[in-house]
Parts: sequence; structure tokens; C-alpha cells
Amino acid sequence: MPRSKNLRTLQELPIVKGFRPLWMRTNYRQAITLNLEEYEVIRLIDYENLIQEQVADLMKVSRPTVTRIYESARRKLGTALVEGRTFVIEGGDVQMSNTYYQCEECQHRIVLENHEDNPRVCPACGSDRIISLADCFIRGCRRCRRCN
Ligand SMILES: [Zn+2]
Ligand SMILES: [Zn+2]
Repeated sequence: MPRSKNLRTLQELPIVKGFRPLWMRTNYRQAITLNLEEYEVIRLIDYENLIQEQVADLMKVSRPTVTRIYESARRKLGTALVEGRTFVIEGGDVQMSNTYYQCEECQHRIVLENHEDNPRVCPACGSDRIISLADCFIRGCRRCRRCN
């Protein structure tokens, strides 16, 4: 699998694709897109309580890069909160430390450390509706039921 030095490494993918505000009619044209490196920095700093140096190590980027991503993410979250905007989590210059698949039937998530493996059926329910979470989150999926 080709690797670029500019890619940030992610440990996990979000459990949801985004958020819709209560009281507001959903309008995807006004949606804010939080990319995956912004999500990861928020997760590591505001959820895991790491400091920016640790985040830079984990994501294999410089400390000023972490600061820049963090500021951008906070601005987007603040805008979504105050203006009642839908936001989606998608895209970004990232690579995953593992490969993630999810069953469309039962939502079971499959984590594979070997990037070559590709599950044919869900180990939990036997369904063959297996989707690549990299497609949903990184490349921008419009095909699977959950993203449509
Ligand atoms: Zn399943
Ligand atoms: Zn999808």
C-alpha cells in the first residue's frame, strides 16, 4: 500500500458520520465538514486529554501542524454549535494504523491489522453487506446505505 510522508496516521475512526442539530431542518448544503485529522486532534486533546506534543508524536506530524489543525477544528465545532449547522466527518490526508470494515446489517465493526485481508461475510451475523469504513470516511462514500 503506497505511503506518503504527508499523511497523518489515525488510530481509530469515528463511530458516527456526523451530527444533525435538534430544532433545525437538516440542510446538507450548509453542512460543515470536519476532516479526519481535525476529528483525531479533537479526540486526542479534548477527549483523551493528551498534550499537543503527544498528539504530534501519535499522528507523526510537527507540533505547529497539530496546533493549526486543532484551531481549525475548534473554529468549525464552534460555528456548528452556535449556528445550528449539521456537520459531517469526512476526508483528510490520513492513513489508518488498521483497516476497518463494518456490517451494514448489524453494525458490527471489523478491525484488521493486516491491510491485505478483506472479510467476505460478517462474523457476527453472516451478512455479506460489508462496507469499507475507509470508503465511508476518507474517500467520501455515497454508495452505502448509511452514507446516503
Ligand atoms: Zn453483521
Ligand atoms: Zn458509506
